[in-house]
Amino acid sequence: MEKIIKPSESLGILGGGQLGRFFTTAAQNLGYSVVVFDPDEKSPAGRISEKHICKPYNDVKALDELKASCLAITTEFENIPAETLQYLEKDSIVHPSSKAVSIAQNRIKEKNFLKKCGIPVGHYVVIDNIEAIKNIDEQYKIFPGILKTAQFGYDGKGQIHVNNIVEVENALITFNNAPCILEQKLDLDLEFSIVLARSVNGEYLEYPFIENHHKKGILDFSLIPARIPSSLEGEATKLAMKIANDLSYVGVMAVEFFITNNSLYVNEIAPRPHNSGHFSIDACIYNQFDQQVLTLTGNKPKNEVTKSPISLMLNLLGDLWLRNGKEMEPKFEMIVGPGISLHLYGKAEPRIGRKMGHITILGLKNQTQKNLMQKADGIRQILWEN
Ligand code: ADP
Ligand code: MG
Repeated sequence: MEKIIKPSESLGILGGGQLGRFFTTAAQNLGYSVVVFDPDEKSPAGRISEKHICKPYNDVKALDELKASCLAITTEFENIPAETLQYLEKDSIVHPSSKAVSIAQNRIKEKNFLKKCGIPVGHYVVIDNIEAIKNIDEQYKIFPGILKTAQFGYDGKGQIHVNNIVEVENALITFNNAPCILEQKLDLDLEFSIVLARSVNGEYLEYPFIENHHKKGILDFSLIPARIPSSLEGEATKLAMKIANDLSYVGVMAVEFFITNNSLYVNEIAPRPHNSGHFSIDACIYNQFDQQVLTLTGNKPKNEVTKSPISLMLNLLGDLWLRNGKEMEPKFEMIVGPGISLHLYGKAEPRIGRKMGHITILGLKNQTQKNLMQKADGIRQILWEN
């Protein structure tokens, strides 16, 4: 049984991007101070934390400094080397565990783990060496498929659509023969996610289901609650809970689902708060980062009373800053209004496809999801045309 870490103590986080920044704000609002560990001196979280250790993730002396300066450590992105977490958890409280992160950060381990737990996943073939191409049985209708690198992919990066074995061979060359998995491309009716929190003692909380819409492999907007058939709701919760329990997971986790032919498939898991859960910052009393702080400090997740049962979250990518071949600041002052919140992540440099911020639109009075989607279209139009 871990003891509860009280406010005024210090918490550590590996990674200082926007997720680390929201964690830092949540921890500070709950009375903690925060040490951010991130090799980037301009990291969004490092700029608002009490302390920033600006060293590579394999710098043992710096990791010792992190351990000495806080009582518990979490992570904001899954590509932290698993060895770093293993080193820290030898004598520090670390949530989620290196085991959970090492599974979630590698698509081969992740898919094999899900399958072993009896979780429905789409058909896939592991291609961890050139010989493994022989395992692809063209009769099995895996094509059209998507070849995904086992590690370091995000926002659709590290993925190539393939239609036959020759295209798989070429894609593997593009990936320098890195270990991959080949997935059957599913015909998606809908994508949604469950963001959940689980405590050391196994107490479980999940947010309302989140409907996700992607553009070019990057989350474009999320709608809450997801419009999924009610017949699938109980099953989805059961699956998410089973994954969290089987991993003995402590912290906040997201499970991404596909619905195809009225059946559920798990796409992937994220061992951290999730972009799709950002609505909770404005729509809920306790947001997903509060839950990350609560579970890290040995507390129960707190029931997320919603301030607004309907909401929409719209991502802002660097593309909006880089229109017509030049860099320009979007005119955010033109979209101010009741129920609309703007979050900018403090990233120095906009890049195409880079997440720079997001906008939340809360459903006021009797607004429907359709109203919110129309409002989002209006906001997009104003921002892109001015
Ligand atoms: P990441 O989010 O790490 O970039 P994902 O595996 O979640 O990678 O892929 C990004 C998006 O690509 C998914 O949200 C989905 O829209 C689409 N996608 C991924 N895998 C499949 C698949 N097997 N069938 C159909 N669409 C897919
Ligand atoms: Mg994904």
